[in-house]
Amino acid sequence: MPAHVLILGGTAEARRLAADLAARPGLRVTTSLAGRVARPAALPGEVRTGGFGGPEGLADWLRVHDVDALVDATHPFAESITANAARAARVAGVPAVVLRRPGWRPGPGDRWHDVPSLAGAAVVLPGLGRRVFLSTGRLGLAAFAHLPDLHFVVRSVDPPEPPMPPDTDVILARGPFTVADETRLLRAHRIDVLVTKDSGGEATAAKLTAARDLGLPVVVVRRPALPAGVTAVPDVAGVLRWLDAGAG
Ligand code: NAP
Repeated sequence: MPAHVLILGGTAEARRLAADLAARPGLRVTTSLAGRVARPAALPGEVRTGGFGGPEGLADWLRVHDVDALVDATHPFAESITANAARAARVAGVPAVVLRRPGWRPGPGDRWHDVPSLAGAAVVLPGLGRRVFLSTGRLGLAAFAHLPDLHFVVRSVDPPEPPMPPDTDVILARGPFTVADETRLLRAHRIDVLVTKDSGGEATAAKLTAARDLGLPVVVVRRPALPAGVTAVPDVAGVLRWLDAGAG
């Protein structure tokens, strides 16, 4: 087991991993947060916040802080930091692994429309309904700002900033949400169609079940590919196995 593990965080898995590693005697664990959420929930172990200054900055951080293993447990759509982490680990000679939870797959009864990007979602939306639940996070609303005829409901932890669609209701809330919560929300706002990123995992999947139960279409923004050559595991257990095997 390495002596100092840096976790690039911002996900439920990063939090679970930090809790597991922080409980191990003699192991130093640092979680790095981008600083997007104003008051993040407390995390076990050490926490640092803010960008590193690109891959070179991250490589310097790895060296200066004697990091023995890097775990990129960022969100599947956090494309830049994942590219930076792969490059920084290579430059600094630090073993690295990406924790990438599997994407969602439709089941019987699901009415999913796959698109490659938020811009692609904006293209198909007008054909699917007028009242839209956008659960894609507060960043990226600009992709829908040119759709004045649609009514949007946006849910985020912190208030979104413009540009955003002119007809938007904002709900400030932090998950997890149950299927009952999501069904209530979709009904209360008379939602016709839901937009989600293919985040994967259980924590935010309740809205998909609610949409299926209500027979609503879902626009699914598919995730970006991982950088070439990285080692990836699907869950926290996979990271622990990788670390226990010497992070090679
Ligand atoms: P991004 O576009 O991939 O990254 C943009 C820049 O933010 C990076 O170049 C880096 O700055 C900094 N950064 C990102 N994650 C960081 C981290 N964990 N620690 C330190 N710096 C970080 O990232 P994003 O999509 O904005 O996501 C930001 C954070 O929110 C990530 O930690 C991610 O796990 C979390 N998150 C993202 C989403 C999503 O849908 N994108 C959803 C839920 C949570 P420098 O180049 O200066 O180092």
